[in-house]
Amino acid sequence: MNTQTAVRADGLFVLHFLIFALHTYFYRREICGFLFIALRLVRNYILEVTYIKITSALKITDAHTHLPVDPKNFTEKRDALLRVMQKNGVSRGVIISDSELESSIGSLTDCAELFRGHADIAVVGGISPYIRYERQLKQLETYIAEGSIVGIKLFCGHEPIFLNDPVLTPVYSLAEKYSVPVLFHSGWDNPQYSAPDVIRQAAEEHPRVRFVCCHCCYPSLTACFHALLGLRNVFFDISSIADSDASVFKTILEEAIRQSPERFIFGSDYGSCSQKAHLDFAVSLNISEKNRKLLLYDNASRLYFNGR
Ligand SMILES: [Zn+2]
Repeated sequence: MNTQTAVRADGLFVLHFLIFALHTYFYRREICGFLFIALRLVRNYILEVTYIKITSALKITDAHTHLPVDPKNFTEKRDALLRVMQKNGVSRGVIISDSELESSIGSLTDCAELFRGHADIAVVGGISPYIRYERQLKQLETYIAEGSIVGIKLFCGHEPIFLNDPVLTPVYSLAEKYSVPVLFHSGWDNPQYSAPDVIRQAAEEHPRVRFVCCHCCYPSLTACFHALLGLRNVFFDISSIADSDASVFKTILEEAIRQSPERFIFGSDYGSCSQKAHLDFAVSLNISEKNRKLLLYDNASRLYFNGR
């Protein structure tokens, strides 16, 4: 073999080796990729079957929803909400209006009229002391008296309003007169307006009003339950806490539910959060089936649907 032929043979050997190495590398990657995808499909299938098995045996109320922003008009927004509920096996819902007079998620009047006479959707009306307060209070009372509205929502934190501010006295009087719950935003941004001690003060000042602490002061669930589990007129809806990884809250929530199972209500904050993610979270909680039934249906029935 002359020098030229030897160089060519060495080059071919190197080339073959490279092709073999690359082929093996990609082949292995493909096999690993295939196995990874197959395992994920099997896992998802098992989770889905478990989810369907559990949820189909349960009645579910999503007690914290909003109309979605994207659809063009209110009829389409309503239909989008009802479709999602049906897809997730949710038979009843509580829809919360905005406190603004015009809003993409619907004002008090928009929501009350949109769901008038709808047996499976209860409407909670938003109100703000900053927005035509007197007029909106009268409107709210009319709707509550005729049964179109089943609760009142205060957007503490979205608006600079403390839950224990005396300006809210007419709201609490209305809630007491008609025995409807007062829901309020808590946690997330500007949590000071409905911090646990502020909630405690409002709840103690109005012992005959049932308060619903939406979002459980997220992410300060421990402080929330520590301060408020002793107050019998404070309820907790778990909306929005499962939108990102909620596994860190599982133990805290499971323990709080065990202590006071009749005061926890399932909600998702659909409209800005995933209903399915919240249902998966609720199903994954290590609580008794009796308490899961209270969480997913019975407690909301008592608060928003006259016990039916
Ligand atoms: Zn909400």
